[in-house]
Amino acid sequence: MTNACAFPYVDPGAVLRLDGDQWSLGLDSTRGTHIDVVVYRVRADVTAPEDEWLWVLGHRPECGYPAVDQHPPCIEIRLRSAALHGKAGLR
Ligand SMILES: [Zn+2]
Repeated sequence: MTNACAFPYVDPGAVLRLDGDQWSLGLDSTRGTHIDVVVYRVRADVTAPEDEWLWVLGHRPECGYPAVDQHPPCIEIRLRSAALHGKAGLR
């Protein structure tokens, strides 16, 4: 099993501003464009800390989370782990 504590975690609520070359797949997203994602959590169940690419569950800033009633993450995106480095809230 993957040790979740070894993950480059970003605090929930941190906003990732991703250029088109920093992510590759996302539900309901257009590839190659800039995208902002409010982090819910890293999917430690399907990605390992040493992976170059990580799956992240999150929200679009437009959805208003968490100001609106909580709802399941509305975006799942595969992004370069390097995109998480140097972010505020990294621990
Ligand atoms: Zn949402």
